[in-house]
Amino acid sequence: MTERIFNFSAGPAVLPVPVLEEAQRDLLSLPGVGMSVMEISHRSKTFADILAGAESGLRELLNIPDNYRILFLQGGASLQFSMVPMNFLSADRSADYIVTGSWGKKAVKEARRAGSVNIAATMADGGFTRVPGRDELSLDANAAYVHLTSNETIEGVQWKHEPSTGDVPLISDASSDILSRAIPVEKYGLIYAGAQKNMGPSGVTLVIVREDLLQRIPDGLHTMLDYRTHVENNSLYNTPNTWGIYILNLVCEWAREQGGLASIHQRNEEKARRIYDTIDATDFYRGHAAPDARSIMNVTFRLPSEDLEKKFASEATAAGLDGLKGHRSVGGIRASIYNAFPPEGVDALTQFMRDFERTNG
Ligand code: PMP
Repeated sequence: MTERIFNFSAGPAVLPVPVLEEAQRDLLSLPGVGMSVMEISHRSKTFADILAGAESGLRELLNIPDNYRILFLQGGASLQFSMVPMNFLSADRSADYIVTGSWGKKAVKEARRAGSVNIAATMADGGFTRVPGRDELSLDANAAYVHLTSNETIEGVQWKHEPSTGDVPLISDASSDILSRAIPVEKYGLIYAGAQKNMGPSGVTLVIVREDLLQRIPDGLHTMLDYRTHVENNSLYNTPNTWGIYILNLVCEWAREQGGLASIHQRNEEKARRIYDTIDATDFYRGHAAPDARSIMNVTFRLPSEDLEKKFASEATAAGLDGLKGHRSVGGIRASIYNAFPPEGVDALTQFMRDFERTNG
């Protein structure tokens, strides 16, 4: 096999090698089909089976109840920032947004175009290092929905438990931690996630929506922006990202072979713990997120100076540890360690961190 480096990119991100190998093997001709999956009709029996496989794979992994529909859309999680309020933010109510980082802020920006937004809490003051406690939330019992970002990819801040929202539907942007752990789907009205971290390539957006909420959607939306279009047409109203859904299906099979989300979660916890332990071992490294909100997907930390951070990132790249530079908006270092990121890569990083501190500390 061609040598692969350790890819700490926040997304698109590392995919399981067995998935890439299978896709490579079948790229020219799917067994029994004689064509690439990219060359077949989205209305063919072959693709219908792939789509059904992806859906049942997700249903099994996430234990999605029968009264939820699964959609494979396009436009990224970014389009969901608009679709959610267009479909559910009615004129007579406002929506509660809990803002724990940069992506939550972007969701608010789009929701404001559609209607009235109540910021139920924002953690901006502390530099987005934690999630709010119960007593810090000003939730409106009459809100159309409550929106949160389960894992803020840029800041590395993750919710560990859902806040209770009573009868108000909870909506989550789970782009960067979907499939990283089991979640109680029944606590949510809608979950959305771009595929390009834990599920596959970019260009597919997963939406899991509770069926009864579809009745709240106003008539008159543009066809493609109305969730009902995609529910009624089983994600085949227009041409979906067939290749992306094919890979997503393979990733689900891989996740099942890993023992499902409980096993995957345990491995993710262990990988993250090793990096956080290295951060905590000295004063040279400083974790960004508060300990009880530390992400197991995106580990963010600072060094004593920006010059050292630059040096760290470039020497790491030279050592085969790629993608560690923090997001341009916050700086610092970010190690994204999604499901498919190998534990050997975590060991390589922690060793590199100790060595770097020894020569620069
Ligand atoms: N939400 C979160 C939490 C993200 O991490 C990202 C992308 N990194 C987005 C939304 C935007 O996703 P997309 O690029 O698929 O529109």
